[in-house]
Amino acid sequence: MQTEPAEAKRSFQAQAEVAIADPERFIERVFEHFAEHDAEITPIERGSSAAFFLGEVSMQARPNNVLMRVKADDETGLAFMKSLAAHHLIEFVQGERPRFAWTGDGVGLSQFPNFREMTVERVAHVTPHMRRITLSGSDLGRYATHGPHLMLFVPPEDNAMPEWPVPGEDGLPVWPTNDRRPQVRTYTVRSLDLGAGTIDVDFVLHGDHGVGSRWALNARPGDVIGVRGPTGRRRPEADWYLLVGDETALPVIARTLESLPASAKGVAIIEVSDESEQQPMRYDADIQLRWLHRNGAEAGTTSLLVDAVRAVKMPPAETRIHVMAGVEYTAFKAIRRYWRDELHLNKKDVVPVAYWRRGRAEGEADPDDEEN
Ligand SMILES: Cc1cc2nc3c(=O)[nH]c(=O)nc-3n(C[C@H](O)[C@H](O)[C@H](O)COP(=O)(O)OP(=O)(O)OC[C@H]3O[C@@H](n4cnc5c(N)ncnc54)[C@H](O)[C@@H]3O)c2cc1C
Repeated sequence: MQTEPAEAKRSFQAQAEVAIADPERFIERVFEHFAEHDAEITPIERGSSAAFFLGEVSMQARPNNVLMRVKADDETGLAFMKSLAAHHLIEFVQGERPRFAWTGDGVGLSQFPNFREMTVERVAHVTPHMRRITLSGSDLGRYATHGPHLMLFVPPEDNAMPEWPVPGEDGLPVWPTNDRRPQVRTYTVRSLDLGAGTIDVDFVLHGDHGVGSRWALNARPGDVIGVRGPTGRRRPEADWYLLVGDETALPVIARTLESLPASAKGVAIIEVSDESEQQPMRYDADIQLRWLHRNGAEAGTTSLLVDAVRAVKMPPAETRIHVMAGVEYTAFKAIRRYWRDELHLNKKDVVPVAYWRRGRAEGEADPDDEEN
């Protein structure tokens, strides 16, 4: 029986046909993957549809090709769904990268709808190794209503004007092939001032061996950076929260704590190098906040966070919970295993994320990687 996808009313739509051998098997594998990432899956005739926060993607098997459809409430959501579909197509298809073009809404855009150039307004030290950079830009309303994260397009070293990527006909970015190519890094909007048209981003200064950290170290008012976002999920409603992270997740934890109602309860655990990296945190909720200190150990080398997570007393099973971690990859794997396989927490309540990986730059591929 054919079932209509949950949000069939979404008004921005596009479709593409892609030649793929064994389309049924291909669709099965892609949608198994979407299900693992908590998408809501609905069967459709000879295929499936997956609903995400920003829109939905469906794939239908035809003789020797797949018909992909994406839908969203606005242009930004549609661009996101096109990239998501194209990205997974390339990841799961065997053999050569398929060539295809979307038709429908959003075709021919010269820039991604959620991309903007932003300018450094101010640079401030929060702690010895945390630098707050205030960026100004236009049309920031979406940052008040959507998730807290963004992708920064860090200009080349000499700070000369970069060439930004543009949307390709398959929905994925087309990058400049010259030395004007920016590098992409993921960060968090620590705070937003819609009136002033600014956002604050807190950068961990972990040395000058990362392009994000080095850019923050040298940033001056007037410098330009590319920003695509916001991305990520908004904080879910819950009665009890467990927020876990090292310095890189401190901005999102601080922002989440500030947004919690006084009735919320929970635990926040933050690992920093030492006391000088602690920050005053403002919140009304009944949260037990614990700071952990590495005391000389390098970031990403201790089991402090994993041990602390294992020691947390979880609330009774019927409590509405939200549990998140933003940590180094090794801790991420241990924490995810504990929450999912030992405590059997419901996947939709639990968001463990590897915020960085020791010895590896963001986006650096590893063929042996577990998905994260
Ligand atoms: C959703 C999300 C939100 C994030 N929000 C923030 C944020 O608000 N602020 C923030 O500072 N970071 C944040 N991060 C983490 C940030 O994206 C990574 O730390 C990223 O690697 C930094 O880029 P880079 O160019 O400085 O270093 P890269 O070029 O990616 O890495 C270069 C080297 O530095 C190492 N490295 C990277 N990060 C660290 C670190 N923190 N400590 C020690 N060594 C490190 C790498 O292992 C690698 O060896 C976030 C990550 C995610 C996924």
